Amino acid sequence: MSLIPLKHLRKTVSFRLTVWYSGIFILSFLLLFSLAYFLLSSSLNKQDKEAIELKLKELSTVYQTGGIELLEREVSIEKKFKKKGPFFIRLGGPDNKTLFLLIPYQWVQFDIKELEKTTSNTDTTWTRLPAKNNKDVLEIASTRLPNDDLLQVGKSTEDREKILSHFREVFVAVTAPLILFGFAGGAFLAFRALKPIRNLVDTVRSIKAGRLDARVPSPQTRDELEELVTLFNGMLERIEILIRAMKGSLDNIAHDLRTPMTRLRGMAERALRPGQETDVCQEALADCIDESDRILTMLNTLMDISEAETGVMKLDQEVVNISALMDRVFDLYSYLVEEKDIHVHLKVRDGLCVSVDPTRMSQVLANLLDNAVKYTPDGGLIELEAYGQENQVVITFKDTGIGIAQEELPKIWDRLYRGDQSRSQKGLGLGLSLVKAIVQAHKGRVDVASEPGKGSIFSIYLPADS
Ligand code: ADP
Repeated sequence: MSLIPLKHLRKTVSFRLTVWYSGIFILSFLLLFSLAYFLLSSSLNKQDKEAIELKLKELSTVYQTGGIELLEREVSIEKKFKKKGPFFIRLGGPDNKTLFLLIPYQWVQFDIKELEKTTSNTDTTWTRLPAKNNKDVLEIASTRLPNDDLLQVGKSTEDREKILSHFREVFVAVTAPLILFGFAGGAFLAFRALKPIRNLVDTVRSIKAGRLDARVPSPQTRDELEELVTLFNGMLERIEILIRAMKGSLDNIAHDLRTPMTRLRGMAERALRPGQETDVCQEALADCIDESDRILTMLNTLMDISEAETGVMKLDQEVVNISALMDRVFDLYSYLVEEKDIHVHLKVRDGLCVSVDPTRMSQVLANLLDNAVKYTPDGGLIELEAYGQENQVVITFKDTGIGIAQEELPKIWDRLYRGDQSRSQKGLGLGLSLVKAIVQAHKGRVDVASEPGKGSIFSIYLPADS
């Protein structure tokens, strides 16, 4: 295996997580084992000491009752019936010369001569006599009897050591599989925990390769990673909408600019024709200015629609009195209304307010009023109404104009769409697209009901507490 992938592997989060997890797992195992070993060793030690002390007391009573004969008899009976574990027993005289000695045959050798140097008072004292193999120890409790003899009872640590060494063997046997298990468990957990991150990386790769609709599968774990994935997918959704809208706008602009630009060029050519009269030149230039104004308005409106549709439009919302807003918009059209002898009824509930961007909402109302005036014949009627309904504010524009054919209704909200019957009127076919985009940016909606020859009703629904 080359060193480069190994170096790369060491830098991965999965590897670091695996090492941390298995490290903590192995460390905890070692700590637990050490604790268990310590508890076992000290409880065996305590058990042995208690047994020695008990035996010392028992034999001291026996000796004091029946002397050395009874002691010997008691010991031989115990040896015969193998009552509780083997004990080392020694009785020394006042000068500590050995009077009686019993060393269980199964134990290793101890230098008993050392014990003749022991001194003790009536209290129990403890001595540790190392074995000749230097591994085991004879733990002895001594007590001075009333007749000044010294009674000693002890036990070798050999039996205890056997149990502890078995425990250590088990530890060595389970350690290797446990380390392997720790690593495998760590690798598995790291692999599972990082799955959403890998999915995220795969998705970003797909997007980089041009698949804009790629999304990260949700891990359904209801944790921070699921939240991250949801936010990430939401962000992708938004980016996709923005890119598609940008593409749509560009397509529209490219398509719809061709005609006015060709017209503009034609006008300029007309003015530049050799020997052209000055007044014709001036007329052509004035037409050029009109046409470029039209193009500019179209570009600005398309930009506004895109901004509103993609949520980029900045809305300075404030609580606005609808009646005042509608009055202001109506004033702009009062001259045209008078000229066409159209009757306008304004019916707005007193004090009705809504939180909107006043400039943008004026644009919406002006576009709808403009259409109503434009498509209503002279002497017609326009009714503007505003009222509250459940949790929304409704504003309607009802006219007695030319109306819209049923099959045209879904198309009127499209950019640059113009109805067949409206070609004679001035317009860009962008008014209703802008109305819809701005109302939706305010979290509202629009709809229309219309009958050709009778008139139309355009309604705006805005959230009352927006
Ligand atoms: P424009 O009015 O510039 O053509 P709009 O986007 O405002 O563009 O309207 C799109 C189309 O919807 C219009 O061309 C027209 O056919 C139809 N329309 C809109 N408002 C009305 C109305 N009040 N009465 C009849 N038709 C309408």
